[in-house]
Amino acid sequence: MDLLKAITYATEKHDGQRRKVDKIPYISHPYRVSMLLATEGYDKEIVTAGLLHDIVEDTDGTLDEIKSLFGEIVAELVQYASEPDKSLPWEKRKQHTITTIKHAPLAAKIVVCADKVDNLTSIIENEKQLGSKVWNSFKRDKASQQWYYTGIYESLIHGLQEQPPLINQFKKLLDQFNG
Ligand code: ZN
Repeated sequence: MDLLKAITYATEKHDGQRRKVDKIPYISHPYRVSMLLATEGYDKEIVTAGLLHDIVEDTDGTLDEIKSLFGEIVAELVQYASEPDKSLPWEKRKQHTITTIKHAPLAAKIVVCADKVDNLTSIIENEKQLGSKVWNSFKRDKASQQWYYTGIYESLIHGLQEQPPLINQFKKLLDQFNG
């Protein structure tokens, strides 16, 4: 079954990596993202893309490999969730994501949304525990992060008739984050 294969593949690829603020094993993040998607009742391709969404950006795994192992639909969703060129400056990379997501298919928006829901949940939790020290672990300060997450939200809702529950969940976190 593809989902079990994806769990094994993602666990191997992210082996040894840790989250930058709280240093917990990195794989817990893709697991949580895929659980959010499964809880919302999304189909197997979307849940699988949730498990694999950071493979291309953060490991030696490639889109071609994901395509051959998990199919074209999953690979396309992962591509939407991946930043292009890691050597570009932070603002350029983040702006690229905001722009790309704006006209992305709903399935791709949902995967990106689950990623951001989990990241914002962690950031809000870490900020509660560490205060403003938390921003030392990031490439940019809180104001920049607020700009980024607000931009993502606006792109996610662009062109949608109604907002899926996961996007509403993101909006609640965003309001909390922006104070
Ligand atoms: Zn992620």
